[in-house]
Parts: sequence; C-alpha cells; structure tokens
Amino acid sequence: MTKSSVLGYPRIGADREWKKALEAFWAGKLEEKDFRDQLKEIRLQHLKKQQEKGIAIIPVNDFSYYDHILDTAAMFGIVPKRFAYDGGAVPLALYYGIARGTKEAAASEMTKWFNTNYHYIVPELDGANPTLTENKPLLAYREAKEALSIEGKPVIVGPLTFLKLSKGYAASEIDAWLSRLLPLYVQVLQELEQEGVRWVQIDEPICVKGLDEGDLARLRSIYETFAAAAPKLKIMLQTYFESVEQYQALIGLPVDGIGLDFVHGLKTNLAALQQYGFPANKTLGAGVIDGRGIWKADAKEKLALLQEISKYVSSEQLIVQSSCSLLHVPVTTAREAKLPVELKAALAFADEKLDEIVLLTRALVEGEAAVADQLKACEEELKSLRQSPSRNRSEVQQAVAAIAGKQPVRQSPFAKRYEAQEKKWQLPILPTTTIGSFPQSAEVRKARQLWRKGEWSNERYEGFVREQIGIWIKLQEEIGIDVLVHGEFERTDMVEFFGEKLAGFAFTQFGWVQSYGSRCVKPPIIYGDVAFEEAMTVEETKYAASLTNKPVKGMLTGPITIMNWSFVRDDLPREQIAYQLSYALRQEVEALEAAGIPMIQVDEPAVREGLPLKESEQAEYLEWAVKAFRLTTCTVQDTTQIHTHMCYCEFHDMIDSIEAMDADVISIETSRSHGELIQSFEDRGYKLGIGLGVYDIHSPRVPQVEEMTSMINRALRVLDPKLFWINPDCGLKTRGLEETVASLRNMVEATRIARGEYSNVASHN
Ligand code: GLN
Ligand code: ZN
Repeated sequence: MTKSSVLGYPRIGADREWKKALEAFWAGKLEEKDFRDQLKEIRLQHLKKQQEKGIAIIPVNDFSYYDHILDTAAMFGIVPKRFAYDGGAVPLALYYGIARGTKEAAASEMTKWFNTNYHYIVPELDGANPTLTENKPLLAYREAKEALSIEGKPVIVGPLTFLKLSKGYAASEIDAWLSRLLPLYVQVLQELEQEGVRWVQIDEPICVKGLDEGDLARLRSIYETFAAAAPKLKIMLQTYFESVEQYQALIGLPVDGIGLDFVHGLKTNLAALQQYGFPANKTLGAGVIDGRGIWKADAKEKLALLQEISKYVSSEQLIVQSSCSLLHVPVTTAREAKLPVELKAALAFADEKLDEIVLLTRALVEGEAAVADQLKACEEELKSLRQSPSRNRSEVQQAVAAIAGKQPVRQSPFAKRYEAQEKKWQLPILPTTTIGSFPQSAEVRKARQLWRKGEWSNERYEGFVREQIGIWIKLQEEIGIDVLVHGEFERTDMVEFFGEKLAGFAFTQFGWVQSYGSRCVKPPIIYGDVAFEEAMTVEETKYAASLTNKPVKGMLTGPITIMNWSFVRDDLPREQIAYQLSYALRQEVEALEAAGIPMIQVDEPAVREGLPLKESEQAEYLEWAVKAFRLTTCTVQDTTQIHTHMCYCEFHDMIDSIEAMDADVISIETSRSHGELIQSFEDRGYKLGIGLGVYDIHSPRVPQVEEMTSMINRALRVLDPKLFWINPDCGLKTRGLEETVASLRNMVEATRIARGEYSNVASHN
C-alpha cells in the first residue's frame, strides 16, 4: 500500500522557540541540562505533530542543535585542528565553538546549502582522525520510539555528499577519506539494523549535480558496502533540489528505494522514469509536494502526476513525500492573521504540506471520491487567488511585455557616458564613496520601533531620520568622501523596505525560516503583479542632496536581489517576475533622476544566489538577470551615473555577465574571495568603472592605512586607475559609529597616498 513520508521538518518551531533556546543558552541564561530538555521537548512536539497529521514514515535525526552537516562531522569526530579536541563525543561548547568561533579559534566557514538560503558549516578534514563518537541517528530513533511509539526513519547525510561538501583535502585524497569514513557509516547502519530500524533515508543531493565516472564508481562501492553490511536495513537513497543526472546508474544501485524530486526536477525525472521505467524490487520516493515553495499544491494536478508515476510502479512501491526537507519553509500558516484572505488560503507551509501529503496518499489508497470535498476546496482556493485583482494588473502586464520585448540599452556606449559624466562631475582620480548604509545604532532601531508601534508620529520619525541624514552628510564631508550617500536610516533591510512600498508583496507575521544557526529570515511573498505606486526613496535622497554641494548617490535594491530574497509566485516564470520588478524599479530610477539625483546605485548582491544548480541552465539565467538589471537602469541620460554593488559570494567566474550589466561603476567585495577576482581581472581586464572593496566591513577592527594602500596597489596593477573607485566592501549598517569614522578616515588617507602615485599615470594614459 502506498505510504506517506517527509524528508525533514523545520527545527525552529512555530514561535522560533528553538532559536530562543539556543540564544538563551549561548548567553548563559540556560543551563545545559535545561537547554537539552527544552530542545528535546521541541523535537518531540514536532514528531507528534507529524504523527497526528497521519504521516506514515516520520523522519528522525533531521533535528539539530545547529546544523545537520556539523552534526555529521561531530558524530565522526571531525573537528578543525585549531580547536583543542582529543576524541570522544564532541561537547556542546566545542560544537558551538566550531560553528561560531571562540576567543582562541576562528569559526568554520559557512556556505550555502545547494541553491537554498540555508547555510551549513563546512567540515574541515585536514588533520582529523575520524571515529564514531556517538550514533546520533540511533539515539533519535530510540527517543521517538520510547516517547511516542514512532517507528522513525533516521536521516543521514550520505558519504559522497558529505565528502564533496567538506574541505581540507586534495581531490586525489578522496578515496582515502572515503575508506576512513565508510567503516564508521557501516557501524552506524549495522547498529540501526540490530535495533530493528526499517527505513533509513540517506541524503545524497550531490547526485543532482552530475557525477563523473569516479564519483559514480564511489557511489556504487558505497552502497554495495552498505547493502552487504546491513542487508535487512532498507535504504532510501534520497536526492533533491533537481533532477538526477544519471538516472539509470542510480536505479541500478543496490538500495531499497530511490527518492526523486518531482517538483524542481519534474520534467527530467519524469522523462527518465517514462523512458527507463523503475525496478520492480525498489521503492520510489515520489517528491511531489514542494518542500521549498510556500504555495498550496494543486491537488488535482498532483494526483494526475502520481497517476502517471503509478504507471511505472505498483502501489506497494510508492511513497508520497515532500520534494526535500521542509526545513526551507515556515512552520504554519495557521497563525497568520493579516494576510489577504485569498493569499492565506493559497499558502501551504510545513504543517499544511503534511496535510497535502496525507491527502494525496489517501486519494491513491482510498480513491479520489474519498477526498472529493478537499479536492474541490483546493480548486476553489487556488482559483480565487488566480482571479484576484492583484494577479491581474493588465496595465503592468502590458507595459512589462512591451519593455521586455526590446533589448535594453543606454543612450550611448560607456566611453561616451564616461566622458559626459567626467565633464559634469570633475571628480578627482580614484574617487571615494561608500556602499550605502551607515551604522544603524540602537537609537535608530528604537526610533523605528516606536514609530511602528504608533508611539511616534510620522512627522516625528521622519524628523529623526532627517537628523541622522544631516549628521552623516556632515561627517562624510568632514572625512573627505567624494560621492556621498544618505545612509539608509529609514530601512530595516534592503528587500523589505521596497516590498512594503511596492504593490504585489505581502508580509507574514510568523513566516520565519532558518538561514544559518539560530539566524532566521522572514522573506516577503511576491504574490501579485508587482507595481510601482509612489516614489520610495526620493524624499530622503533629495533631502541629503540639499545639504551638500557634493554629489549624493541614490540607493535602490535591484530586481534580482529582491526576487532571490523573497518567496515568489509559482504561476509565472521567474524571468517574468524579475522584469515586473525591473519595470517598477525603473520608475523609481526615473523619479530620482527627475528629482536631480545624478548618480543612482542599484544593488545586486544576490545575483549569484539564483544561479541554477545545473550548469546547462546557468547561462540562460544570467542572461535574463543581466537584462533585468539593464531594464531597470537603461532609460537615464548619459550624464546620470548608474552604480551597482555585489557581495556575499565569489564572482570571478561571472565577470562577463557583470560587465554586461553595463553599470557605469560597480563596487564589489574582494576581501573574502582571496584575490581570485583580481586574478581574473588580470586575465581579462574590466572596461567599466569599478571599486574593489578596500576593507572588510564584516570585521570589527579598524583597518590600517597601509593595508588599504597595498590593496589599492594590488588592484591597480591590473585595473585602469582612471576607472577605479575606492570604497569599503559592503554597507556599514552593522558597524559602530566610531570604528566606521576611523575606518573611513584611513580609507581617505590611503586614497590620498595612492592619488600621489597614480595621477601621473592616469593623465599620461
Ligand atoms: N546598499 C546596501 C547597504 O549598504 C547594500 C547591502 C548589501 O550589499 N547587502 O547596506
Ligand atoms: Zn554588500
């Protein structure tokens, strides 16, 4: 009989109680025993919920004290060698030390989990001596059984994925590491088998990236080893986030089940199933409910899909499940009281997804008639959102179609714009600027809170923001910066601020998702056609400009970043949503220009985050991402200088796309990419204005003048001084006032020294 399952459940709790417990423990406000008890309670509550909803195969060991990759490393005693550790179970203090750093040792690197906004702790193998310190999956299994009589499905990160995500070894050493880890995995699995565990889910999402011959052979040997060592244990080899590249090889592995993503990898996975069939002795985990999207599934459509899948597997062979862990969606829509009715009814967060999975399973087992009412209700709810005016702004749709139909280009090519802008501004060589935000002090945050609560009137709050702008315009002038900014004091974060002012967005009250460790984000929802309603940044920018004779740069967040940091509707291609955002933001760009703001920065720090996992799809994404930026910025006059900014990631392999954005100036983070970016400029040059961040704003220390001069010199060996700008590597909102002023003074001093050296060079060019 067909069963239901999920791949993992959010850890944070409906009220972020998990986050609160972690932070209380870190702050010393919670004893370790009480902390562990609290986490256990949260964990059991989550299991109970799945049990009550009727999920048949419930995952255990998906819970974590921080991150599941860190858990896996700790379970195998893999601790970076800069920490004091001599074997045995990893104590909590050390566990959190690896994640967050200690006085003595820096934290481990943190990286995006595939193409999600979840970040994991990168294991460092160098110097490690792997042993099994505790069988965590077994403990989780026992706990669920004892407390709730649940026959849990332990979830384990597979060896190939674990190794591929780790660092601290040479590519040629991978087999040596595999042979050290395999016996430990075997021991884990054998103990699970002895305990009587039925299903274990081994996550190998690395399979969707495409494996070369070597990795394929490794995969085969891993799962042959497991099958021989624990023959009674049923292994579900789980993939997600995309279609698998080597379907035939995968279904030939000696495992009991294969889990496939039939949402994000739908077309290819389904085509493979149709073409090659599915082995009769294996179970298919059909991931039909989107584990990362927030939308209610079209139950009829999903049933049709399951019926299609059922042509290739018997009902006994089928498990209906989520496409990936529900870690990536908020907990429940139940408490959302402020969303438009038609929107709320069309959303499904983790708990609602459990219901969907159970419903689909019931429909298969008992027949569609048994759930006819629910199917009908679902259809109505989806229809009501589809027909809502917010999704049918025909003026927006027509305007977007019209502008996207043409290639967006500026009036003149860069050389001509450069000349016009130079003549107009007569900036010194190596002009200095900042990225946008200045410190959001406790005072600033407090003021916003009071205003949001209604305790401060609009006038009072606006007056306060103006005061801050005034203080910082003065400071920037005094420090000697050439291109000023207003400081972004009116913004909480760079997406929410715009989302609240544009039509088509909604904000949940409790829609939090874990981003890394205890840090959670609450992404806006783009649910309707995006539309510009009124100028969003003009007042503050104009006010700042009125206080100084120096140019003030307007500051916007770009279409791709807004999209990548939001949950977006799934009835339109992402490309179309991006163009709608471009069209709305273009109107803001034009409003700034009309208000006399001569330089406008459109930030795109998150372009890289949207890059598809499959290499074959990346070029297409980059093409429309670049186009979206150009659509936003192309209508301004030649003398209006368009800036952009990027950070957070490595960009050295996408400079062609960055150049194609055709921004007059880009400021880009280099301090953490270890010179790889400069290296690539050496190889190919860069023809537009560029500022490489000369210091790392993420560190609380004040950088010395010499550090920055050497950074500048290094960059100017490969970049043209006439096109080079000097700036920090990101916004300064998280920094304190004094360190910021001191750092910027040093930056201006470093610039003065560099100008002495390079003004000659430039005038002779
Ligand atoms: N303009 C934004 C700021 O300075 C850019 C932030 C970012 O790159 N994440 O805060
Ligand atoms: Zn940045």
